[in-house]
Amino acid sequence: MFAKLGRFTPLIVLLVCSQSSFAAEKIRVLLVDGQNNHNWRSTSPIIKASLETTGKFTVDVTSNLSEKEKDKPGSISPKIAFPPLLENYDVVVSNYNGASWPNSFNTDLESRLKEGKIGLVIIHAANNAFGGWKEYNQMIGMGWRDKGFGKRVKVDDQGQAEVIPKGQGDSTGHRYTGVFTVVVRDTEHPITKGMPKEWAHPRDELYDNLRGPAENLNILATSFSPGTKTHEPMIFTISYGKGRVFHTPLGHDAGAMGCAGFQATVERGTEWAATGKVSQKLPSDFPTEKVSLRK
Ligand SMILES: [Zn+2]
Repeated sequence: MFAKLGRFTPLIVLLVCSQSSFAAEKIRVLLVDGQNNHNWRSTSPIIKASLETTGKFTVDVTSNLSEKEKDKPGSISPKIAFPPLLENYDVVVSNYNGASWPNSFNTDLESRLKEGKIGLVIIHAANNAFGGWKEYNQMIGMGWRDKGFGKRVKVDDQGQAEVIPKGQGDSTGHRYTGVFTVVVRDTEHPITKGMPKEWAHPRDELYDNLRGPAENLNILATSFSPGTKTHEPMIFTISYGKGRVFHTPLGHDAGAMGCAGFQATVERGTEWAATGKVSQKLPSDFPTEKVSLRK
């Protein structure tokens, strides 16, 4: 009996070791929410579950609640106190649009991102935030801003991008809301590789006239807006120093985030922002010409 136990001991140790090293290989995601003119309480759990279902990520949620919300129960528990230490994470996913973050958190994010130590993911209204934070505008490339704020990029039927100078054209809006098609413009990028050239997305706000410095931008996919009669950037990346930023204006609400295409895009975009690679296969429920919703 004792001899048997003795023989099994090294095996048990080995299993514990391999399990912990497997856990260490997961990408550590920090999902930031707590203030948004959108329903972050219903959308953050969708983002968290979507990432975790891939088996590639661990997701901590931190909520920067406003004073009046501090007493309300949060949407996900346990939560990480805000502001958390960024050194514990490989990528920040922002589902946040609200009051400024502390200066020390901002400068830490700037330097860590610039050095390529962390990645950043921007979803929908997160691009409305922090108009006065110069470096944030560089990171996100373009956001929900006034036409006088910066450049706008639109894409023609052939996929050629055209830069509209600041002051010309319209300010950011969503001049169309409904079902629309996402058109992949870069079929070789790890995030979009293997996706159908065109795929259907359920009812969502189609952001148009995003504005900003628009530097070091790579547009991966667009959607035609009946509101502006042109193709608007829907999936794009930005280089910020050595850092990688993945940005999608898709995802207004829980219905839009139920799209298997949206979720797979964010799963891939988050891995890419953290590592520069995508190891995930395209899921079998990825939409084609038909909308595909996840429960
Ligand atoms: Zn919205």
